Amino acid sequence: MDAEILVCGGGVAGAMAAVAAARQGAQVLLLERYGFLGGNATAGAVAQFNSWQTANGRRVVAGLAQEVVERLRRYGAAGEHHAFVMSTGHRMDRVEYAPEVLKLVLDDMVAEAGVQPLLHAVLVAVERQGRRIASVQVATRSGVATLRPQVVVDASGDMDAMRQAGAPFLELDAGEALQPATMMFRFGPVDFARFDALPAGEVARLAQQGFAQGHLARAALHAARDPFSSDGWFNISRLAIDATDALALGRAEIEGRRQAWRAAQYLRAAVPGCEAGRLLAFGTQVGVRETRRVQGEHLLTAEELLQPVAFDDAIAAGAYPIDIHPAAGGELEYAALGADHAYQIPYRSLLPQGLDNAIVAGRGISATHRALAAIRVMTISMAVGQAAGTAAALAVRMPRAAALRQVPVDALRRRLLADGACLA
Ligand SMILES: Cc1cc2nc3c(=O)[nH]c(=O)nc-3n(C[C@H](O)[C@H](O)[C@H](O)COP(=O)(O)OP(=O)(O)OC[C@H]3O[C@@H](n4cnc5c(N)ncnc54)[C@H](O)[C@@H]3O)c2cc1C
Repeated sequence: MDAEILVCGGGVAGAMAAVAAARQGAQVLLLERYGFLGGNATAGAVAQFNSWQTANGRRVVAGLAQEVVERLRRYGAAGEHHAFVMSTGHRMDRVEYAPEVLKLVLDDMVAEAGVQPLLHAVLVAVERQGRRIASVQVATRSGVATLRPQVVVDASGDMDAMRQAGAPFLELDAGEALQPATMMFRFGPVDFARFDALPAGEVARLAQQGFAQGHLARAALHAARDPFSSDGWFNISRLAIDATDALALGRAEIEGRRQAWRAAQYLRAAVPGCEAGRLLAFGTQVGVRETRRVQGEHLLTAEELLQPVAFDDAIAAGAYPIDIHPAAGGELEYAALGADHAYQIPYRSLLPQGLDNAIVAGRGISATHRALAAIRVMTISMAVGQAAGTAAALAVRMPRAAALRQVPVDALRRRLLADGACLA
């Protein structure tokens, strides 16, 4: 079962890291606690990839993320890339997709790349010797296994491997709170011709009314359309928890389903186009926006994104705005970026302090709470995952194996560009 590279967590970041590393010829084991890949993108049923380009149409995310979309389209399971106006009035670009089919796409990509998936398996412990992870313990359906990879990519969202390895984590600043979790739900049929034609002012009025009357936990009527049907995946619930607190997470699952049920009743009763709809499914789990963030060699800040700072070691780019769902209340803190505004993510934000053979990807990288509010989206998570996996593969081929800090950044960037990634 051993491999050169262990990727912990098969969300979109981990899946892209595993595929990128295996395509460079590395032996890769992809560890995932569920029986399928995707994390928030499938289990959380987020159902839309946001922000591929700047407001004026300059592309900033491509590479493996784009390949995911093309493969979804071959299954007929992703819509066209299009701009839309959110129920909060903000403009955004997105690709809507069917979360169930994304499971198949990720299965395909992992299998074709030669990644060994280890599903229904949970990382439970890490043995650390000095600056290196020496071994990892994994609880599987066949028992507890000890693995000795050369490199660990932590893409577990909650940064479980880094926690077990004793890596340092970032604190929230005064006045900040973790972004809330959300129980997505599938609702349909929706007459989208009528739903989408509602004037923005009327959508806002209905959302505020539902929130004020206690039917909606968030003052929004936000939905991603299922490509196969006239159902939508609705993002309306709001659960202020620390999802690394086991009891709180369980309570949030239960409360999230209740919030979703109440929201569905409100949609039926009050929202044009939704009269015939029913709640059809919940996400497999509550979607988690933010938990632990690793303290890395570089702390990416909101100011750096907004300026934007050009990094010599940029390994990904993005154009998603700072989008903070407050823990309490129904509103959204959202600041649109300029028409051609894009930002970069430096390699050093993927390197945890104090560990030489570990790298992180996805929503736990070294970024402030406000910076994470921008770079957490799945497009950027996939781009960062591709970079982390590519770097891990370069590291295991170096003469003194697996020192992520010694990976030549120029070579990494060249490889990423050759593989279709955007770095600016
Ligand atoms: C409600 C909600 C709405 C969102 N809306 C959008 C949107 O509209 N558009 C957009 O692009 N992005 C959106 N996002 C953001 C985006 O979905 C996430 O930030 C992104 O999916 C994070 O990906 P990840 O791979 O880093 O982490 P995750 O998706 O959290 O994946 C982590 C994976 O690791 C596994 N794992 C965790 N711990 C262990 C362990 N110890 N052992 C084994 N496996 C483990 C998990 O099962 C999971 O599969 C939203 C997020 C939420 C929660």
